[in-house]
Amino acid sequence: MQPNRYLEFVVASGKGGVGKSTVSSTLIMYLHRRYGNVIALDADADAPNLHLIFNVAKWDYEKPYVASKTAYIVEEKCVDCGLCADVCVFNAVKEINGHYVIDEVLCEGCATCAYVCPTRAIRLRTSESGKVRMAKTKYGFTLISAELNVGKPNTGKLVTEEKELARKIAKNNSLVIVDSAAGIGCQVIASIAGSNLAILVVEPTPASFSDFKRVHKLAMHFRIPSVLVVNKYDINEGFLRKIEEYASSENIEILGYIPYDDVVPKSMTMLKPLIEAFPNSKASKALLNVAKGVEEIYVNWDSWKTKHMPRRYAPYRPKIIKPSKIY
Ligand code: SF4
Ligand code: SF4
Repeated sequence: MQPNRYLEFVVASGKGGVGKSTVSSTLIMYLHRRYGNVIALDADADAPNLHLIFNVAKWDYEKPYVASKTAYIVEEKCVDCGLCADVCVFNAVKEINGHYVIDEVLCEGCATCAYVCPTRAIRLRTSESGKVRMAKTKYGFTLISAELNVGKPNTGKLVTEEKELARKIAKNNSLVIVDSAAGIGCQVIASIAGSNLAILVVEPTPASFSDFKRVHKLAMHFRIPSVLVVNKYDINEGFLRKIEEYASSENIEILGYIPYDDVVPKSMTMLKPLIEAFPNSKASKALLNVAKGVEEIYVNWDSWKTKHMPRRYAPYRPKIIKPSKIY
């Protein structure tokens, strides 16, 4: 029986391109078919792709996301001294035929130019950074997604807006599955913070393993239990041992091993989740086993959490490189 409470499970990997969205879309499809209570949340506003996998052509709701400011020059006040161009470290101020203009795409809104301008000709205005949108998919669940405008910085605030929207439309027993962005930046922190379970995806390569450990530390920082999915495990089987040793030393359950399968990119070109497009493929079968493993955790949530919750918060300590070590 499903727990009668609101839960958030986040799928993260540290490194990009290791199969997070394939795992997320399988979990979303499988758990929604079983319990009918899933809300899908695409937290990768730089490169959202769940709407492509679920073939969402039209959004039912769109809200502008306003988070940044950009500078502009009031022409009549400008005396073309060029000081603003001298101080702009982002090279956002351009000189065209002796006159100065600000490139809104490059401008970071730091206001340095406005401080130095002798005639106070520079103003700052808020600008739309992107959009938060929502649609009912043809599979019956709601997808919340966000998209950033070109040149706009990604922020955790945008993910938090998406999560707030999910909480607004959620019922008491909704399960939100968050497909996080790559890395461990603020948008990933916002995806993980407040989640109940981190489903981490790793490939057996040094780069993926290193980034997975970083994102696992982040989950530990928030005292969120993690489970692991090894994707394309057969591309470098010799490396698996390192992943397994780490998982065992950190008490991380490995939910499954997904083989390399060239139907995965094909399903994306078909704008279909893999388990819909190629249900009998070896990757689909392995992913469904992973989904069943997540289901097992979900239906036994209270007892599972008690056993797997990290005992204490692990403070995340960034490595500080002293200048003497750089030069
Ligand atoms: S606000 Fe900052 S980034 Fe934008 S033009 Fe001025 S100095 Fe450059
Ligand atoms: S600093 Fe002010 S006056 Fe000088 S070029 Fe820039 S906007 Fe014009």
